[in-house]
Order: sequence, then structure tokens, then C-alpha cells
Amino acid sequence: MSKIYSAIVGGHLRVYLADTTDLVKTAVSVHRTSAVSTEALSRTLTAASLLGKLLKNKQDILTLKVAGTNQIKTILATTNYSGHVKGYISNNQAEIPYLSKTDRISDAIGLGGNISIVRDFGLKEPYVGISHMISAEIDEDIAFYFKYSEQQPTAMKLGTVVEEDIVCAGGILIQPMPDVTSAEKAAYERATDEISDIMNRLNSDQTAEEIIQSYFSELSVMMTGEFEVDFTCDCSRDRISRALMTVGVEELKEIIFVDQQAEMKCHFCNTIYHFSKEDLEDMVSALES
Ligand SMILES: [Zn+2]
Repeated sequence: MSKIYSAIVGGHLRVYLADTTDLVKTAVSVHRTSAVSTEALSRTLTAASLLGKLLKNKQDILTLKVAGTNQIKTILATTNYSGHVKGYISNNQAEIPYLSKTDRISDAIGLGGNISIVRDFGLKEPYVGISHMISAEIDEDIAFYFKYSEQQPTAMKLGTVVEEDIVCAGGILIQPMPDVTSAEKAAYERATDEISDIMNRLNSDQTAEEIIQSYFSELSVMMTGEFEVDFTCDCSRDRISRALMTVGVEELKEIIFVDQQAEMKCHFCNTIYHFSKEDLEDMVSALES
């Protein structure tokens, strides 16, 4: 079971620690990703899981989009308030042959792309923030985004330990809150460097509290919550059929004439929905009525 642990360190540092091993395992079995694509998808899903904890209301939805320039053009992850996360990667078979480990994904994503965070609060227009990527490592790019687009200092480190299978996936997010003291700020700066080894600590016997405390030896750690997150798709035949209907009457009639049926695949979970000629004719009548 994947979990996000939340803590307040000192009085003014917000920390979220993610163990997304199971979530990423599910995603990888759905999307059948190569090593590099696994790392890229894993980081994006973990990031969305962590950022989802910053949502305030039950109906809120957050989408993280990585737009790359090299082999991987798009990685998308969406989470709702309840921690149901879904995602996909445009190229599930990216390969960087000269890399022995998957700890550098910037070559597969490529420089010059951007990262965007869309928050849908159920209002007319979602809130969209975007910034260019500084490293194409995803975690550093998100930290950069928060610092410059939202004036919120943020430290983030994400990773995956892969042997034959996924051994461990997760990450950490640290944000100073307003009124941060100088001692807390100094501890935050130190932790920003030290969290580069987060995967070693996550892949050990240490508890979430011990891991967080290990980065902040001089400050008190108060654990404030434990939240389940999972890889679940909320697609349905009804939702996919409404999406298909948006092509319009003319297009639907053409599909009926040429193919006599339609197949739609959900990009998030690869479920294929089949619509017969009769289904399509019902859609046309519904649109024409
Ligand atoms: Zn789906």
C-alpha cells in the first residue's frame, strides 16, 4: 500500500514523504515501461501524489504535465484530493543506451521543455501554472516552478530503485511556511542538499518519522498524518462515450459509414472501450435531438 506521510518540522517546515512503491508497480504493469520510461513515469506519479496533499478541498484535482523535447514528449499525472492517482507517458519505451543506471532521465526528456501544474478547484477555469524545465529531472523542475512561479521555496527529490522489478519508489517535498525562523531556514537549506539520498533512506528499515528526523537533527518532528495513495483510473464507458460524442454528428456518421464501429482507448489505464454501430447511431440521435 502506498502512502504519503506528513509532518511539521520545527514550527514552520512542512514535509511530505512518499512511499509510492505499490502505486508505481501498478502503473508500470499497466504501461509496460522501459527502464528510463519507468523512472520518468514514476517520478511524475510520485510528484503528483505529493502535490495532491497540498489540495484543500474534496473536489480539487491536480494535474502535473511534463512536456519534453526528446524521446519523451509528454508525461501526465492527475490526482484527486482522495489520493487516487492516474498517469501516462507518451513513449513507454524510451531508451538511453549509454546509461547503465536510470538515475538520469534528462536525456530522455530533453532540455527546453516545460512543466505545468493545473489545479481544478471546480470553478469555471482551472488555475494553470507553467515554467520551463531547468534540468528535466522533474523534481528540480517542480522545485524551480514553485520558487519562481508561486514564490514558494520548495525542495523536492524523487526516485525509483529498480532491480528486476521495482524495489522502491518515492520522494520527499519540503516547504518552509511563512514566519519560518532563521534556524528552520538554515535546516531547510541543509536538508535541500541532503535529500539527494532519499531513496537510500526510503529503501531501508527506517520509519517515515526516522527518515524525516534524520534530515533535521536539531529540530522537533511532529508527524501530522498518513494518507493512502493508489494508481486508479476513473474512466467509464459513459465518460468515454461522452468524449467520443464531442467529435460531432458529421464525424460520427462518417465513422458509422466507414468503420461501422469504434474503439476508444483510455490513455491512463489502457482499457479499450468498444462501440458498435448501434451505439454510434444512438449517439447521433442523442446529438440530433
Ligand atoms: Zn482509464
